[in-house]
Amino acid sequence: MTPNPNRIYLSPPHLGEHERHFVEEAFQSNWIAPCGPNQEAFEAEMAAYVGAPGAVALSSGTAAVHLALRLCDVGPGDTVFCSSLTFIGSATPILFLGATPVFIDSEPESWNLSPQALERALRDASQQGALPKAVLVVNLYGQNADMTAIQKVCDTYRLPVIEDAAESLGATYRGQASGTLGKFGIYSFNGNKIITTSGGGMLVSRDTAALDKARYWATQARDPVVHYEHSELGYNYRMSNVLAGIGRGQLKVLDERIAQRRAVFDRYRNALEGKHGITFMPEAAFGASTRWLTVLTLDADSPVKPHDIIAALDAENIEARPVWKPLHLQPVFAGCAYTPHAADCNFSEDVFVRGLCLPSGSSLSIEDQERIIGIVRSTLQRGG
Ligand SMILES: *Cc1c(COP(=O)(O)O)cnc(C)c1O
Repeated sequence: MTPNPNRIYLSPPHLGEHERHFVEEAFQSNWIAPCGPNQEAFEAEMAAYVGAPGAVALSSGTAAVHLALRLCDVGPGDTVFCSSLTFIGSATPILFLGATPVFIDSEPESWNLSPQALERALRDASQQGALPKAVLVVNLYGQNADMTAIQKVCDTYRLPVIEDAAESLGATYRGQASGTLGKFGIYSFNGNKIITTSGGGMLVSRDTAALDKARYWATQARDPVVHYEHSELGYNYRMSNVLAGIGRGQLKVLDERIAQRRAVFDRYRNALEGKHGITFMPEAAFGASTRWLTVLTLDADSPVKPHDIIAALDAENIEARPVWKPLHLQPVFAGCAYTPHAADCNFSEDVFVRGLCLPSGSSLSIEDQERIIGIVRSTLQRGG
């Protein structure tokens, strides 16, 4: 599949001016390897940006989740509590380790892990003597979860929290960087994320010894001797020095990209909020969202469904998507337990049916955005 220059994508890469310089430097110095100066510098620059003592550059966000779970000692027979309303990459590493996910619903205020559902599920698990090894909290669509409330529940049971901040790099929670609130945090630089290395990820933590362990596992667990000696199971998970060069350039424009994404969101909201049963994803009072994607919901009784708008936009060569399908509904996770937000609120299933992600790229022009708004409006006026 090649990118179509006439198509408007949901969240395309948006390069700045510095990426090429760092990549050239890698070529000129022949550091075309999964180690090197860009990799080290990108780790240091990311750690400084989010205010973490250290960071490990990896081949993907999924790899970072995998390592974070293993650092929490997750293994065969264990369970891990995990947000249900998220992308599959949050949870597949639980299966890689032979463990079982237990899915938790989101709350309406932030669309992220519901502290009250978590509390109920942990109380039940505790009574059954089946507490999880870790709790994996996802920060969806650029917004942080309510970490104070979640941490409080997890502290009761002394459970480590992993923050999947793949979609929320640059967001804040009570002034602190998204991804730095749990024991481990992960970021993704996949092509659709707010900044990209074409593919890549990062693991952060206050525990620098744990990060050293992750670096060791990520380089095939090669022991520090000249011959190839391996006393533990490892992976080939390091980010290449070339791609880290792209990441360094992208990090320089991250704040600009956040401002651009938020401006895209504001334009949609000003044009569409409150009309034809449209409501936008809320921004919780406890933090600042990056608005990585603009997401809205249609009223349950709206004659127009998200798929009608997706089809109308697609006919004009514009990409839109439904909200993530909850993981507890995915065939690959059939049989896994799930706790809804409340007896009368199954939030992730509800928002999956009513939710819509609009093109949100930081490079989206005002003219293109107005065209999108026009198509959404006319689809709603037509009634489907
Ligand atoms: C993108 C994403 C991942 C996986 O990141 P990759 O770099 O694509 O492996 C994990 N979790 C969430 C919430 C994501 O959006």
